[in-house]
Amino acid sequence: MTKRYLFTPGPTPVPPEVLAAIAAPVVHHRSPDFRPTYERVLARLREVCRTEADVLLFGASGTGAFESAMANLVTPGEPHLVVSAGNFGDRWVSMAEAYGADVDVLRYAWGETPEADDVRARLREREAKAVWLVQSETSTGVVADIQALAAAAKEAGAIVVVDAVSSLGAVPCETDAWHLDVVVSGSQKALMTPPGLGLAAVSEAAFAARGSSPRFYFDWERTRKAQRQLDAPFTPPVSLVAGLDVALGLLLDEGLEAAFERHVRLGRAARAGVKALGLELFSPDEDRSAVVTAVRTPGEIDSGDVVKGVRDRFGITIANGQGDLKGKIFRLGHIGWFDVFDIATQVAAVELVLAELGADVERGSAVTAALEAYEHSASPA
Ligand code: PLP
Repeated sequence: MTKRYLFTPGPTPVPPEVLAAIAAPVVHHRSPDFRPTYERVLARLREVCRTEADVLLFGASGTGAFESAMANLVTPGEPHLVVSAGNFGDRWVSMAEAYGADVDVLRYAWGETPEADDVRARLREREAKAVWLVQSETSTGVVADIQALAAAAKEAGAIVVVDAVSSLGAVPCETDAWHLDVVVSGSQKALMTPPGLGLAAVSEAAFAARGSSPRFYFDWERTRKAQRQLDAPFTPPVSLVAGLDVALGLLLDEGLEAAFERHVRLGRAARAGVKALGLELFSPDEDRSAVVTAVRTPGEIDSGDVVKGVRDRFGITIANGQGDLKGKIFRLGHIGWFDVFDIATQVAAVELVLAELGADVERGSAVTAALEAYEHSASPA
């Protein structure tokens, strides 16, 4: 018997209370057994997104919810700007092209941090109906300054769409205060619920800007109208909604600000741990990198061997790099139901496996460094 640990930046560990809610008998979605849960989840999602707008809930992964934004906002031939600095930005470029948008890409090397001035300059050269942004580029560990990027897009009069799939609930995402028109996320990241629910907070401006692409399941109008009557347009995954209700309750009980602070401290602990091993960070060494810590493997060691080693030896799942970074970096997740001992476990396992693989790592200090970084940073800057 091997105890299993899920330490990826999605899916993430699910608290037992949430699992218990999911295991309850299935109820009918158009009955009083479900409606109060549905109403509470929709209200709690608005709280977590910090918006007065409708948060549309779909039986879909995060990509599905993001596709709802494409299907509703893109009219073929219209100019759109996608900011891409990694795997998910690239996905949105491909998706916008699939919807026939006239796509301009503000492209950065993977690992770079998008800059508001670049967005501003690009929009001066070419207008865009919408600017598509990624808050936390999970493939690189970079968390962008969405407030600044969105402000640059707004100055040019564009609709702002934000992929907050791995960031919502982990780092601040002020939908209304930062004038984000669409914020997309999924259940399986910082929202501590299994995969299967996607959400999109949709402002009135975004709703009014709907285009003419064909759509049905993901049509915002259909879902918004039905949700407002607490009458889901299609059969929702009721068990996941019940789980999400409990998970959002846990998050709001902790308090969003407290959760953000915990994530900052978890990020600090992870970075301190790997640096104490003598490893080089790939993700920025800054407090905003509170979602996933990306680490270069030393020497010629393939990061796939680190991922396989911690899995085979200790039942721990961490993430390899994606795209060209596969084999070069490994990623330690710390969003959602994580505490400092989850970080200590990750860095301890990485230390043991790297040593076995022949790496020249500093032995015996990573766990202490991680614990100290967490303990000594009670109020993040
Ligand atoms: N965007 C980001 C930043 C992600 O991290 C992910 C998932 O890893 C996605 C989008 C895609 O979400 P899903 O896998 O739920 O479709």
